[in-house]
Amino acid sequence: MASLFEKPITSLKGIGTAKAQLFNKLGIDSVGALLYHFPRSFEDWSNPVNISDAVSGETCCIRAKLSATMRESRLPGNRFMVRAEVSDGFDAMRIVFFNNKYITSMLKYDTEYLFYGKVTRDLGGVQMVSPEFSVYTGKQNDLKPIYALTAGLSNKAVQNAVKQACELLPSVVADPLPEFIRKKYSLMGLRDAIINIHNPSSLKALNSAKLRLCVEELLVLSLGIKTMKDGRNVAKATNILKDYTEEFISLLPFKPTGAQYRAMKDCVNDMLKSATPMNRLVQGDVGSGKTAIAACACYNVAKNGGQSAFMAPTEILAEQHFATLSKLFLGTDIRISLLTGSTKASEKNRIRAKLQAGEIDVIVGTHALITDKTNFKNLMLAVTDEQHRFGVSQRAKLVAKGEDPHLLVMSATPIPRTLALIIYGDLDISVVDEIPPGRQPIDTLHITSAKRQRAFGFIKKEIDKGNAAYIVCPLVQEDESELMAAEEYAAELMLKEFSDYAVGIIHGKMKYSEKEKTMAEFAAGNLQLLVATTVIEVGVDVPRATVMMIEDADRFGLSQLHQLRGRVGRGNTKSYCILVSDSTSEASQQRLSVMCSTTDGFKIADEDLKLRGPGDFFGERQHGLPKLNIADFSDMETLKLSQDIVKDILSVSPDLSGDEFKGLRGAIRRLFKSSEGTMN
Ligand code: ADP
Ligand code: MG
Repeated sequence: MASLFEKPITSLKGIGTAKAQLFNKLGIDSVGALLYHFPRSFEDWSNPVNISDAVSGETCCIRAKLSATMRESRLPGNRFMVRAEVSDGFDAMRIVFFNNKYITSMLKYDTEYLFYGKVTRDLGGVQMVSPEFSVYTGKQNDLKPIYALTAGLSNKAVQNAVKQACELLPSVVADPLPEFIRKKYSLMGLRDAIINIHNPSSLKALNSAKLRLCVEELLVLSLGIKTMKDGRNVAKATNILKDYTEEFISLLPFKPTGAQYRAMKDCVNDMLKSATPMNRLVQGDVGSGKTAIAACACYNVAKNGGQSAFMAPTEILAEQHFATLSKLFLGTDIRISLLTGSTKASEKNRIRAKLQAGEIDVIVGTHALITDKTNFKNLMLAVTDEQHRFGVSQRAKLVAKGEDPHLLVMSATPIPRTLALIIYGDLDISVVDEIPPGRQPIDTLHITSAKRQRAFGFIKKEIDKGNAAYIVCPLVQEDESELMAAEEYAAELMLKEFSDYAVGIIHGKMKYSEKEKTMAEFAAGNLQLLVATTVIEVGVDVPRATVMMIEDADRFGLSQLHQLRGRVGRGNTKSYCILVSDSTSEASQQRLSVMCSTTDGFKIADEDLKLRGPGDFFGERQHGLPKLNIADFSDMETLKLSQDIVKDILSVSPDLSGDEFKGLRGAIRRLFKSSEGTMN
């Protein structure tokens, strides 16, 4: 017999096929899914306030009795309204209902009610329009669950279905959290948690239920990430024998910062000494100099006779890394090549043959590196730059090109450490928390399009000084019509505003050779202004660029704006970022003001988390991570607690093989059912 959780939703009374379809729209097909459809929020009926304390514009609960006869009046268009006056014993409030002919018989005189709704207060007094109400009994459910709904499905309907399902819960529900963990951390059992998350007996019970369910979700996610890394935790490393870091540093045109040096050493030590292959994340803000760290790792591997693959998310970036590394390795015996989607077919074949023969030491490239045709003789190190642009599976594909190679992933999306421990649970972390000396802070300002002309004037002045500028257009889709708009905009700038200047355009749909040519000309100074789409968002490094103007800046997320802005301020000249936006929405205003107030990537990431919520911040697609149902990535305390529990569990059973972890194993499998894990 199927357990209650697996039963179809139609097994509940009052839910036929039509209603079931509505539930399906919410992703609910089984009773289990219904029970895990947690309320979005609660209406708090537990704290009635005095009418005199009710704040205008806020939703509140008021305990009151009718204090005058209800009056019905006609409105135009066959509509009518009922007005009543209620009193809490001190003050009076007007309540109004529209087109509800039952109200006059439903509301009784001499009965105490709780009225729940938004209060407005003006010269005419205090008023609540169409409040919800229920008879005050002194013991009604104080917290009323509010669910995510879909058209045709009322909150009441969901509430009733959930109530029924809760009543059907057997007295013992299998709990994925092992008992010793529940005991140690005083966590509520699953059965109580489910009941209390929907119909809490008190605020305290609600919080305990929530905590327990959040912990469970984070635990399953985190344990999943840690245990599903293709058995890399048991793989044996092929280590390098000698440390060439000092020799590498002598090749650099600058002295590495302390943070860069530490990260370089972290990587080399992993590759020298660790029994398992390196699994390291280098996390550092834009401009902190991560490329040199990757180059150091590649150099060490090459000098020790191994091959490295350095993968970037865009061709522009791959090309740039290739140029940087080629220059750095000039005069050494290191053989380096570039492989991207746009490399000519014949050239591709030649490079692939050489890779397989071991005649290339370092290959820089894009996704072309992970296609079936690319094979290595001895891949010892896989590097991915701008990690947030790759899915977990792409990372795994690159790693699969070698026999347990070392892995180095680089990310410019700074996230709080506790969070990183979960998201990158399978990785060790080096933080590059230092910016090379001499950099000047970037001045950022927000203007409306009315001031665009003045901004153009400013850009011209900067260019006249010998600097260069970007103007970025937000092409979210990079589809034909948007591209045309960007091209037209660029053409107009070339012909009119900047007709005396050398202007280039670059976007994602251009041929590789054209992009490369444009970028090279911009870097060399032959182009003074580059009109660009977000293809320049990640990693591009042209230190002579000092101004970045971003059109319709409100259309970008905070982290993306931060990445874009990171394209300037990379040299020692004062740089500027001009955000153009006419949006009056509060959310955009807030985002833009964060941008204007700080250049600290960690602060911006924090704000981004708060403003957008974790769902958007860590797009499922980008991280290959499942969506969270109840837990919140910005809740540091719960994150920390769940990490402590993860440690406890793994210390008992590193592979979760024990019987008491059966439930957890099942939950992990369900959560990751779309990805190709090796757990069973
Ligand atoms: P990111 O961390 O954003 O990838 P890059 O590796 O592209 O940063 O480096 C940004 C710029 O800073 C490059 O022009 C690089 O040459 C320069 N740079 C890196 N490290 C240092 C350093 N220690 N001193 C001076 N300049 C540096
Ligand atoms: Mg970079």
